[in-house]
Amino acid sequence: MESKYPEDHPRTILPDLCRKFYSLGWMYGTGGALSVRTGDKIYITPSGVQKELVQGEDLFVQTSDGTDIDLPPAEKKLKKSTCTPLITVVYRLNEGCNAVYHVHNTAAVMVSMLWPGTEFRITHQKMIQCIKKGNSDKHFDYYDTMVVPIIENKSTEDEIAESMTAAMLDYPETSAILIRRHGMYVWGPSWQKVKCMAESFDYLFNVAVQMKQCGLDPEKIPVAPEGAYT
Ligand code: ZN
Repeated sequence: MESKYPEDHPRTILPDLCRKFYSLGWMYGTGGALSVRTGDKIYITPSGVQKELVQGEDLFVQTSDGTDIDLPPAEKKLKKSTCTPLITVVYRLNEGCNAVYHVHNTAAVMVSMLWPGTEFRITHQKMIQCIKKGNSDKHFDYYDTMVVPIIENKSTEDEIAESMTAAMLDYPETSAILIRRHGMYVWGPSWQKVKCMAESFDYLFNVAVQMKQCGLDPEKIPVAPEGAYT
């Protein structure tokens, strides 16, 4: 869809990402929220809107302490995203974070049920090398075990904020949090990097679900066969 804003403006980027993620099945039924920060301005998609139809002017803009800077046109009667408290917490606790995506991808929901504890773990997968180690400049290595904390879902996003904060403090190397039977939050230094990581997390969660179905353990360190080309 043509945007009346510049190509690299959050009012172009976020509606475009909404359509991409909707087409992946990550934002059905108005679910999820996307956000980009530029300077002290945090842009967030609205609540209760068909995500594939979000337009540039529909975004809410606020400061990091929650003060409104710019609102959508009043006649559209749009509401602030219910995810706003969680998105604000992610920016506050992660210095250098400039994008936060919350999506309801089925792979995240499935791993949150197949891993009934407080952590999802996977190792020896090429795609974990796309995932940043928290706020550091380092990425996970192929041989590392990548851990994603899992928190319990509640009726409202407000109620999840406390456990989300605790999980981020307990796992400084994570760039994502799984919410059981709900979805995932992913964040990072730029909208492009977070898009890459969100796709990689989704891929890894899908691989892990299929491994479980095939009786394979995603946490197990594989042993190369005798005579292998190592
Ligand atoms: Zn949600």
